[in-house]
Amino acid sequence: MSLLHHHVLGRGMASDRSRARLVKELKREGIIHSDVLEAIGTVPRHAFVDEALTSRAYDNTALPIGHGQTISQPYVVALMTELLIAESDLPKYVLEVGTGSGYQTAVLAELGMTVYTVERLEPLYQQARQRLRAMGYQKVRCRLSDGSWGLPDYAPFEAIMVTAGGAEVPQALKEQLSDGGRLVMPVGPQGSQRLVVLTRRGDVFEEEQLDWVTFVPLVRDENHNGAKT
Ligand code: SAH
Repeated sequence: MSLLHHHVLGRGMASDRSRARLVKELKREGIIHSDVLEAIGTVPRHAFVDEALTSRAYDNTALPIGHGQTISQPYVVALMTELLIAESDLPKYVLEVGTGSGYQTAVLAELGMTVYTVERLEPLYQQARQRLRAMGYQKVRCRLSDGSWGLPDYAPFEAIMVTAGGAEVPQALKEQLSDGGRLVMPVGPQGSQRLVVLTRRGDVFEEEQLDWVTFVPLVRDENHNGAKT
């Protein structure tokens, strides 16, 4: 990130130190992918939360972002990112369902991926879109729609990350995954979800179940009219 960004976003040096501390903590907790750690060490998480919460922006916890939603815990962001890119060449096109604050979006973009990100709540969509644009992330495309239908016009995706939890992986998302592609999503009943990684091999989806996590629910909208830009 450039010096200019630091000045625009404020808290330059202090936030550098806080991020470095967070990166150390994530390493201790088992995050090993150096590009992922570097992205966490670069993206200014304090710019993705309300001003009243900036002092807690580099705590390893989820924080409220309004509208009953949360910015995910940094460990979970790092873990899901690691799972998404594991063993493979870096995916070029990734679909994220649940833009929220845009923090996870920025971490994916920082790794060099083109990110299509979908949010169903208009105020969060607007805020994240403006924020990511102001921060100079040019390979991010924000859409306002029900992401459980994916983005058929832009499919297939080499990687799909769902940052809201549901009882099962929506069929549309499986269909929009390219062969060999990976999908990461918290799956299970509210209160006992695990991170699930699906890898597509033709029409077969290999499934791995990993850490227990807590996410806000993936909400399905009744009247789905397709994505607005
Ligand atoms: N990745 C986000 C986490 C946001 S919480 C971050 O780093 O901040 C999950 C988000 O998913 C919420 O903003 C919620 O409104 C959104 N969401 C829930 N169901 C959705 C759906 N069907 N389509 C798109 N977004 C959805």
